[in-house]
This record gives sequence, structure tokens and C-alpha cells, in this order.
Amino acid sequence: MALIVQKYGGTSVGNPERIRNVARRVAKYKAQGHQVVVVVSAMSGETNRLIALAREIQAQPDPRELDVVISTGEQVTIGLLAMALMQEGLQAKSYTGAQVKILTDSAFTKARIVSIDEQNIRADLANGCVVVVAGFQGEDEAGNITTLGRGGSDTTGVAIAAALRADECQIYTDVDGVYTTDPRMVPEARRLKSITFEEMLEMASLGSKVLQIRSVEFAGKYKVKLRVLSSFMDDPGEGTLITFEEDNKMEQAIISGIAFNRDEAKITVRGVPDKPGIAYQILGPVGEANIEVDMIIQNVGVDASTDFSFTVHRNDFDRAMDILKNQVQPHIGAREVIGDNRIAKVSAVGVGMRSHAGIASKMFRTLAEEGINIQMISTSEIKISVVIDEKYLELAVRVLHKAFDLDQEAA
Ligand code: ADP
Ligand code: ASP
Ligand code: MG
Repeated sequence: MALIVQKYGGTSVGNPERIRNVARRVAKYKAQGHQVVVVVSAMSGETNRLIALAREIQAQPDPRELDVVISTGEQVTIGLLAMALMQEGLQAKSYTGAQVKILTDSAFTKARIVSIDEQNIRADLANGCVVVVAGFQGEDEAGNITTLGRGGSDTTGVAIAAALRADECQIYTDVDGVYTTDPRMVPEARRLKSITFEEMLEMASLGSKVLQIRSVEFAGKYKVKLRVLSSFMDDPGEGTLITFEEDNKMEQAIISGIAFNRDEAKITVRGVPDKPGIAYQILGPVGEANIEVDMIIQNVGVDASTDFSFTVHRNDFDRAMDILKNQVQPHIGAREVIGDNRIAKVSAVGVGMRSHAGIASKMFRTLAEEGINIQMISTSEIKISVVIDEKYLELAVRVLHKAFDLDQEAA
């Protein structure tokens, strides 16, 4: 007998028939003698609908009230799934995040889980009950409803698995595993049998939203056995297992995947004085406004001035431009501030990069051969990212996927 946590995403619970399907899968596991906790998302499209509704009332919704609104999607699904499980002849009980007591900090719309009280869940499991928990939500010390950021049900699933020391956390979604790149963009993408936590963390943070970043962090930290599988296949097979590097020596491609996102915007401050303190004077006010900065480039000045570029999330673009034009530029005497929110970031990720030279030059040559201009570059031990014009994104992902032989079965 094993204790299994299964998480189902929005499309997997998108209508009553799919909810019944989930119930049937859970019944199969129960029939094999396993204990099952199910974590569910809101029905597909629901969270977006709730956000849009909030914005109709308040252009910049109050974060506490926004969480009150957007946490309701998951509450609907847990009730429906518990009913569907009963229809399968199982005992089932639903819990909101607050009812479990998933305690989080008070950072509304992006709260972090602090602790989980697993006593009630354990008691229900011991009584033969299937426990259904709402993903994406928790409660802070003061009893306010919080949410965990978009895609946060993955993190609920993994955190519950960690708290219960479950044998496995299965993430059921609309693809049958983690692919070499988003299969919706590149049909030749291949499912990976396994990927290391480190690589998955990079892939997730660079735009592969198949798993929320924090769920991968959590699984790595608490050593949760994490697997991504299809909820649409009767027999989903092995899916993709997220592994530790030392266990994954066999299948060691140099590059494991290509990630991309269109979530960022670029800002360039031209003609800034090339002297100590300038980066701080530019980025200090941006940080104070709680705007996260990702890639940064500062040129070497030939005369006494230089250019300084960085990227921010597109949602923060207007606010960042405003701060730079109205506070920073007059203060430091820069020539101009220009912005571009039609950029995309493409990244190659792989732990094999550590021991192989020439990956960056292959990436740059491949893009050059297609006439794609690289605007910014950043690297770490296991990834190389470039910023390009958004209109070349699909082409860039396709040619890089091919150049690194990701469409070929690993030898
Ligand atoms: P869910 O609603 O189940 O949480 P998501 O939409 O959050 O599902 O995540 C699944 C989607 O992630 C897939 O439909 C796919 O388009 C996308 N995706 C992006 N990159 C990858 C990748 N490397 N491998 C698999 N899926 C990916
Ligand atoms: N329903 C939430 C979202 O759409 C959480 C999730 O699906 O993981 O972001
Ligand atoms: Mg998701």
C-alpha cells in the first residue's frame, strides 16, 4: 500500500465528464489498496475569468480582495470532485486550504506556504476516505485567504506530499510529461523519461509552465518523488520523473530542453554617466517599487557615458518606465529612456553544459544563420538565455531544438 498525492490541473477537471474521469482514476488506485489525496485546480479558464471580473470593478484589484475572489474557483472543483468520488462508491471529503490549515505568509497573490497541518487528512485517510484539497490557496496567521501565484496548485500538491511523506506526487495534466520544449510550439518535441530537479527548476523559471517553479523547489528540498503524467490517457505510462542528478547519469544529453517566454520587456537607459554608483541609482528606485529585474547589461563606456539595459516583467513595464523617465533620468542626467515590450527570451538548459564547451557558440551561430539578432545574453552553469525580437520566437525555438538534436532519441 502506498500513499499517493495526485494533482489535476484546470483542463483535467474542465467539465463534469473530465471530473468523473478523475474520480474513476482515483477509484482504480483505491481498488489497488492505495491511500489517495487529490489536489485540484479551478476548472480551465475559471481563474482568468475571475481575474477579469475583478478588474472590471477595480482596475488594479486590491490584493487581499483579489485573493478572496480568485480562490473560489478551486472551491467549486473540490466539492464537485468529492461528489463524483461518492458516485464511484468511495468515501470522500473536500477541504479548502484554510480548512486543512495550509498556513502561508501574507503576500497576497504570491504567498508562500509556511506549514501544513496534516492531522485531519491523516485521520480521514486512515478511515478509508479519499481527501480532496483545493490547490492554489491557503490562509495567513490572521485568517486571511491567500493564493500562491498562477499555477500554484502544483505547489499545493507537492507541499501536501512533503507534509504527508507521500510515496509519490503525481502531477496530471494535458501533456503526458515534460518535453524537450513546449510541444504546442514544436510538434517534434520529445517527452523526457526523466529530468533533474536543477534542470526542471531552470526550465520552469525560464518559461516552461508545465510545473510551477515553487513546486519544483519544494520537491527538491523535501525529496518528494515527483512525476508528470497525462490525465487524458487511460494508461498514462511512466510520464516524466524528476530526479536527482546522481540518479540520472544514464540519460545525460548535453542540452535537455529549450524554454521560452514572452513575459518580459526591455528597458534601455541611454547616455548614462560611466561612474561608480550608477547601477544603484538606476535600479534602486525600481527595486523600491517592488519590481523584479531579470537580465542586466551595462556596456563599457568609450567616452564618459554608457548604455544600461535590463528586463522586467511585462506587467511592470509601464510602472518601471514611469519611474525611469520621471525619477531616474532627470536625477542622473541620462540622455534618454527607451522601452520595448515586444521581446522574447529563449533559453537552452542542460546539466551537461558544465562539462562541454562550445554550447553558447553553437546557439549563437544557429540564430545568426537565421538572421536573428541577439539583444541580450545571460548565462549560468547550466543555461544560456538570449533576448530576441518576439516575432522570431517560434523560428528560434524550432531551429535551436533541431540544432541540439532534441528531436532525436538520445543515444
Ligand atoms: P495544468 O492546467 O494541468 O496545470 P498547464 O497549462 O499549467 O497545465 O501546464 C501544461 C502545459 O505546459 C502544456 O499544455 C504545455 O503546453 C506547456 N508546456 C510548456 N513547456 C512544456 C514542456 N517543456 N513540456 C511539457 N509541457 C510544456
Ligand atoms: N487555478 C490557478 C491558476 O489558474 C492555479 C492552478 O491552476 O494551478 O493559476
Ligand atoms: Mg499548471
